[in-house]
Amino acid sequence: MKKTFYFFLIALTVSFTACQKDNIISTTNPVGSPIVVPPVAPPTQATDSTLVMGNPSNASVNIADIGNYLLREGYYSVSYNRDRGIPNWVSWHVVATDFGSTPRQDNFRANTELPAGWYQVGANSFLSSGFDRGHMCPSSDRTSSVDANSSTFLMTNMVPQAPNNNQVTWGNLEDYCRTLVQGGSELYIIAGAYGEGGTGSNGLATTLDNGRVTVPANVWKVVVVLPNGSNDLSRVGNSTRVISVIMPNDDTINNDWRTYRTSVDFIEQETGYDILSKVSSAIQNVIEARVDNL
Ligand code: MN
Ligand code: MN
Repeated sequence: MKKTFYFFLIALTVSFTACQKDNIISTTNPVGSPIVVPPVAPPTQATDSTLVMGNPSNASVNIADIGNYLLREGYYSVSYNRDRGIPNWVSWHVVATDFGSTPRQDNFRANTELPAGWYQVGANSFLSSGFDRGHMCPSSDRTSSVDANSSTFLMTNMVPQAPNNNQVTWGNLEDYCRTLVQGGSELYIIAGAYGEGGTGSNGLATTLDNGRVTVPANVWKVVVVLPNGSNDLSRVGNSTRVISVIMPNDDTINNDWRTYRTSVDFIEQETGYDILSKVSSAIQNVIEARVDNL
């Protein structure tokens, strides 16, 4: 459906260009009248930039890969775990043009593009559980269009997240990241969840929705900070700032996200993933061992 839509956009753009040429000819012809074609907004990013730093678990579009199924949503990519009912990780890119005036759509909904027969976690699957529907790719990172913002409300982008984690500590880190973008940086962010059992506002839970959604024990995030530019992967070097955190999915969490900083190496050890795998090994060795302290 989405591919068809983009093909349609390209076709429209091509025909628009053709019409403009026709217009140039018709202006020399007194009987020609200008053809008015409404402008077509292109996708915000021409190419999918969500996995530039790598695919941490080699997620694939093979439907047999039930625990590590790749969903490419355009505005972000997901490794989805069918039996946990939550993403393993979500990866996206943030640049200043991702920020616009689109209001929060709040259209939480099932992802109907999951393979046939897979349980679709719904808008109410976390209801009254004491856990928030916690975005991995945040709504506020995708405000350039209704389509971009809506994409973040698919339930395949959500984990059950303790309210104080989601709204305070995790949310503060999200806000901080946006200040970096507003200050002239672009970011590559990978966020995920692992383990089982969290403590929300109603206490401890291991699963929700009759066992179909696992409550993760921890959420983690890795943020690669680059000055705005092009050829991003090649600009990652030994001095590149990388912010990594692991936060407990516990409502008694400390407010200050900085107290949860760790190394990428430690997240890799905990999850078994290779994060930033497209970066050269020599550079990974340096930037993944360091703990941010700015
Ligand atoms: Mn959130
Ligand atoms: Mn790595």
